[in-house]
Amino acid sequence: MKELVIQGKAVTKNYGSFRALDSLDISIPKGSIYGLIGLNGAGKSTLLKILLGLIKYDHGEIRIFDSDKLDIKKLNKIGSIIEYPYFYEHLTGEENLCIHADFLQFTDKNRINEIFDLVDLSSARHKRVREYSLGMRQRLAIGRAILQKPELLILDEPINALDPEGIKEMRELFKTINREYGTTILISSHILSEMEMMADYIGIISDKHMVKEMSMDELKEVTKKHLRIETDD
Ligand code: ATP
Repeated sequence: MKELVIQGKAVTKNYGSFRALDSLDISIPKGSIYGLIGLNGAGKSTLLKILLGLIKYDHGEIRIFDSDKLDIKKLNKIGSIIEYPYFYEHLTGEENLCIHADFLQFTDKNRINEIFDLVDLSSARHKRVREYSLGMRQRLAIGRAILQKPELLILDEPINALDPEGIKEMRELFKTINREYGTTILISSHILSEMEMMADYIGIISDKHMVKEMSMDELKEVTKKHLRIETDD
């Protein structure tokens, strides 16, 4: 049995009289890239906000790093991008990251260089953010989210609205972060084919609950078995 970074059992969330999540289970193995797949309105953002402690849930149990408490120490180990990434538009990419680093009382200035290399924005670090494309802005947001090398990264639809080249760059970036820092990455998306190219596990959320969680190997087996292309010979 693999060590789990996130384990949710029977998580239920109501917005007033509307039930958004109904007894949802989720298990995310340590060190994996986990793709949370579901159609618009399936409840992905609701689940991610609950995991981050941004909104409360009504019933169930959630354990992150093997405890049900989400204190500051634990939140420090989690990086996230939940909504459209906002920056100071009139400041440069570097100034934006430095403000965040100062806020975190981060003293290692080499880390800023490392981050710009990693997110492939070294040549744009002195440009104002208002000149950044959507893909560059997303990469800067990832840089900000991984400044303190989080053990867990939670990303809500980070490839939404990116062009194919931007999606490819993001995919490679997530794989690098996962490989180099051992960061467990939870990514929501409605594009299964994209998750197939980067995730180790996927969870399918539909009708307010987790329909199925499986490893990519299991998914490949299922696809091979049930979607075999028949030939005449
Ligand atoms: P999308 O990709 O469209 O954001 P999603 O899978 O992230 O979809 P959620 O945003 O979690 O889905 O929404 C799940 C359901 O809960 C939807 O029917 C949505 O309308 C509803 N919902 C979300 N936030 C609220 C809220 N604050 N108040 C009431 N209903 C809400």
